[in-house]
Amino acid sequence: SKAKLFDEKTDVKTTFKDVAGLEGAKEEVQEIVDFLKQPDKYTSLGGKIPKGALLVGPPGTGKTLLARAVAGEAQVPFFSLSGSDFVEMFVGVGASRVRDLFKQAKDKAPAIIFIDEIDAIGRARGKNNFSGSNDERENTLNQLLTEMDGFGTNTNVIVLAATNRADVLDKALMRAGRFDRQIYVDLPDVRERKEIFEVHLRPIKKDENLDTDFLSKQTPGFSGADIANVCNEAALIAARNGKKSVGRQDFLDAVDRIVGGLEKKNKIMT
Ligand code: ATP
Repeated sequence: SKAKLFDEKTDVKTTFKDVAGLEGAKEEVQEIVDFLKQPDKYTSLGGKIPKGALLVGPPGTGKTLLARAVAGEAQVPFFSLSGSDFVEMFVGVGASRVRDLFKQAKDKAPAIIFIDEIDAIGRARGKNNFSGSNDERENTLNQLLTEMDGFGTNTNVIVLAATNRADVLDKALMRAGRFDRQIYVDLPDVRERKEIFEVHLRPIKKDENLDTDFLSKQTPGFSGADIANVCNEAALIAARNGKKSVGRQDFLDAVDRIVGGLEKKNKIMT
């Protein structure tokens, strides 16, 4: 059987309500939603709709979530793949798989294509080029550029890509008519962490007096993904202790556990 190349989701339920904070980034992607919904309005005076935008920021800050919310808000199908899977799984056929992906997206246009970890495909060419797998990666990257250049002005497929290493990307990707917009998705500040807590506390049975100001002050440096993790972990800790709702101490224990995990991860990485 054929390994799965990409995910296709047609009825995306994620909306901007699920994305806390990130006001600037949301404003910028709102434009993309508008382009997808009313392309004719925007091209009527001869303007060209952008083909791609790069979401740049640290891991776990909501880049994937935001891309999915664009599809959900515009009610268009969401085609997604990860650059790293792609390079590993499809030795020898990367370029033809890229062609397939774009063909399917164009057939279902308007649509969003989302490429996570684009740096795995899109690193600057011609460096460390010792192995065959690098040629493979270059072929895949070249095909991606070809596909984006081949879009007509009325194709109405917008490609979003995410990276936490914009500095290593091949400059050809950022040229006009490709990923010529960059949208920054940063770690949340204390106010944004509070909003993220509020989103992830929605499904949780919590103590009535639980103070999200307190929680957001206890979590400097946490990403949205870390906060989602804290909320889940706290609910499990409380349940394990036979509680009927999740309280302040459960959250503090969950924070400790996640801080421990983050420290371990950093140690391994350095
Ligand atoms: P990576 O670079 O590791 O792929 P990412 O930036 O794409 O990370 P996401 O996968 O979007 O991060 O985030 C992981 C999860 O963390 C989300 O599904 C969501 O539950 C939570 N999350 C992250 N950021 C936010 C946010 N701003 N608001 C609400 N939830 C968030």
